[in-house]
Amino acid sequence: MYSLNFTGGRFFLLSPPLAQEMTREIDHPPIRDHQAYLTWPPILYIVISMNATADILIIGGGPAGIFAAISAAQNADRPRRILILEHNFMLGRKLLKTGNGRCNITNRAIAPVRYHGENNRFLPGLFARFTNRDLLNYFQNLGVEFKEEEQGCIFPVTDQASTILDILKEEIERYGIEVLLNTRVEKAARAHSGEFTIHCSGGAQFTAKKLIIATGGVTYPQLGARGDGYSFAEGFGHTVIPAVPALVALTIENKALFDLQGVKATVAAAAHQDKKPIASIMDEMLFTHYGVSGPAILYLSSFIVRNLPRTKTVLKINFFPGLTPEGAKEKLRALWEKNPKRALGNSLIGILPKKLSQVLMRNVAGLDISVRSDGVSKGDRARIAASLTALEIIIKSTLAVNDAQVTSGGVCTQEIRGDTMESQRVKNLYFAGEVLDINGDCGGYNLQFAFSSGHVAGRNAAM
Ligand SMILES: Cc1cc2nc3c(=O)[nH]c(=O)nc-3n(C[C@H](O)[C@H](O)[C@H](O)COP(=O)(O)OP(=O)(O)OC[C@H]3O[C@@H](n4cnc5c(N)ncnc54)[C@H](O)[C@@H]3O)c2cc1C
Repeated sequence: MYSLNFTGGRFFLLSPPLAQEMTREIDHPPIRDHQAYLTWPPILYIVISMNATADILIIGGGPAGIFAAISAAQNADRPRRILILEHNFMLGRKLLKTGNGRCNITNRAIAPVRYHGENNRFLPGLFARFTNRDLLNYFQNLGVEFKEEEQGCIFPVTDQASTILDILKEEIERYGIEVLLNTRVEKAARAHSGEFTIHCSGGAQFTAKKLIIATGGVTYPQLGARGDGYSFAEGFGHTVIPAVPALVALTIENKALFDLQGVKATVAAAAHQDKKPIASIMDEMLFTHYGVSGPAILYLSSFIVRNLPRTKTVLKINFFPGLTPEGAKEKLRALWEKNPKRALGNSLIGILPKKLSQVLMRNVAGLDISVRSDGVSKGDRARIAASLTALEIIIKSTLAVNDAQVTSGGVCTQEIRGDTMESQRVKNLYFAGEVLDINGDCGGYNLQFAFSSGHVAGRNAAM
């Protein structure tokens, strides 16, 4: 049964099941001045009284926006009307996907050096104001327990990202923060009065004394990322560094390596751009049908994506980490001396994945892998050793934003104060999270940045 309602001069058909569904989201937290409606044809949306004014309005209900709201509520010296506008049907949709649904919330080793951007100088001030310890204490005081895994990665003991989101939702309710879901901000501007005017899809409009932009980046558009925050920022006179995917797999030029699809190996990998060494790591990599992926590659991607279109980017891979080409030649000689009759293609099966050694010897070194090991010349041995210890992979591009974990680029941090997250261009305007030109390494660094910047923005907006 649909019921009929009349609001603002328009009739709406209200669907009880959908209204109930919405009520679950919008009753929790208590939202004032709103109703949920189903129009005919059936489009569900919320009508909130036009020209509502918030003390602090936050665009984006991801970890940065949610934490900014909570922090503002905690630090306000008097009751403030705090409103989150979220485009998705739920808060924290991306947060639920983090860490493969387990939420790698932070890292034991948070440090500015683990972040990338045109200007990281504001990071020490930011992290000094809200550290990884502060983040864990915050959740621990609310009963969440954590565990540390490899490389300092920290997860809730439940192994569920929903633990973190549920706690945050409880906090939103506790502080009476208002949330409007299914509400996309289309325009944000500053009126002569100094207040902000916010125009949303569906025609709703708000004014706000303070505005926090926490709209995230452009990666994983399937979870709501659209890059809207960049155009809002530009409208306020901010510079936006072009956004590209980071923590992302890479496509390659070397067709000879496509036969390696599915091969995994622990390698020492170094990225070079225009022959200059950029970054290196020892970790696992994976060969795919388009190129290369795996933790080592995702790590290196953060260092190279910004300059990728303008430079020649080469990855140098050593499948025997720690061994030089000379050392590898010696290792091969000793191995082949022990089993001289073994076919070359099978001669390394004890030390490397068979497919890897065969493809490198055949497709890269250009050898017949059916010959006996003792028939390999010195020169061929040198070529095999080189392909095993200094394989050069030429990088073409990255996968698209749909497959990248974070965005590199965004609102220029030179125009933001690290101690408050306030814009240096527009008073009472704040930024938090991935919308900024900062991206962290894999391992909890990005969520920590979202929470730290959200906390600092919210606290200062409340002052
Ligand atoms: C698959 C995956 C796994 C990840 N795992 C980890 C991990 O384990 N650890 C880690 O540290 N990081 C991880 N990350 C990165 C991390 O999720 C992000 O860095 C973090 O979510 C950024 O938080 P944010 O609040 O700035 O942005 P988001 O989480 O993207 O939130 C921004 C919100 O703003 C809303 N929005 C955008 N535009 C508008 C608009 N115009 N109007 C209204 N609302 C709008 C969006 O719908 C969205 O909900 C992962 C990312 C992905 C994609």
